[in-house]
Amino acid sequence: MISNLTQLAVPRSTLGEGPCWDAAAGALYWTDIPASRVHCLADGHHRCWEIGRPAGAVVPRAGGGLVLAARDGFLALDPATGTLTMLAAVEPEITGNRMNDGACDRTGRFFAGTMADDEAPGAGALYRLDRDHRVTQVMADVSISNGIDWSPDERLMYYIDSPTHRIDVFDYDPGTGTAAFSNGRTFARAGGGEVVPDGLTVDSEGGVWVALWGGGQVRRYTPDGTLMLSVDLPAANVTSCAFGGPSLHTLYITTAAGPGSSGGALFACQSTVAGLPANPFRG
Ligand code: CA
Repeated sequence: MISNLTQLAVPRSTLGEGPCWDAAAGALYWTDIPASRVHCLADGHHRCWEIGRPAGAVVPRAGGGLVLAARDGFLALDPATGTLTMLAAVEPEITGNRMNDGACDRTGRFFAGTMADDEAPGAGALYRLDRDHRVTQVMADVSISNGIDWSPDERLMYYIDSPTHRIDVFDYDPGTGTAAFSNGRTFARAGGGEVVPDGLTVDSEGGVWVALWGGGQVRRYTPDGTLMLSVDLPAANVTSCAFGGPSLHTLYITTAAGPGSSGGALFACQSTVAGLPANPFRG
């Protein structure tokens, strides 16, 4: 199912995160959180932007450019000029918190969560940025808000709060204005102790790919929650993964510094199963 695992020739990150394939641009974006950088790889050329604050997620914007979930809120980044524009502040009163992982649903609403810099339990929350730039808290009492994605029919939403060692799944109703999710239950358990599930992505067959921080792996779970495949990486701290490439058969994997020969490197491998296109923010 997976072949040709390759370390890509881009600068290593301290904490590489949030890979996202922009099909319109033919570009992979990712962030280096503590370095306050957004990276891009397109046609073999690497670029990066200094953004002056940590960002945990980056998504394309349907009208052009990028949107970040950064320390202080949701910001637009103009790749041509590097200009940042605040779309909506998040938790401006909590200086010890920052935004972390996130993704957009098909309607183009951007979901991203927060966490405390000191990882204080329950200090974070999950937020939804609507197309009109209004922000709503949709889940409280989160510790390290991480991977989020939807099933191919968007009737399920997968979500990881890392210290729970769980991948949770919710029923999702994309048709409502509030994008209601309900009936949360455990989809799968992963890790233990310092080994925790981090980012995730769902493929076109509904398989759920989960990065295992501290565990040196990306794992694929079938839609019924069965562990089907483990991909070993030469870096313990595997942070996230995303499908990209012209046919969405390339799985990109971000990592962070730590044990292993290649901590912080960006990897790619070929998958027989294609991914789903990343949704842009439509506001
Ligand atoms: Ca993460």
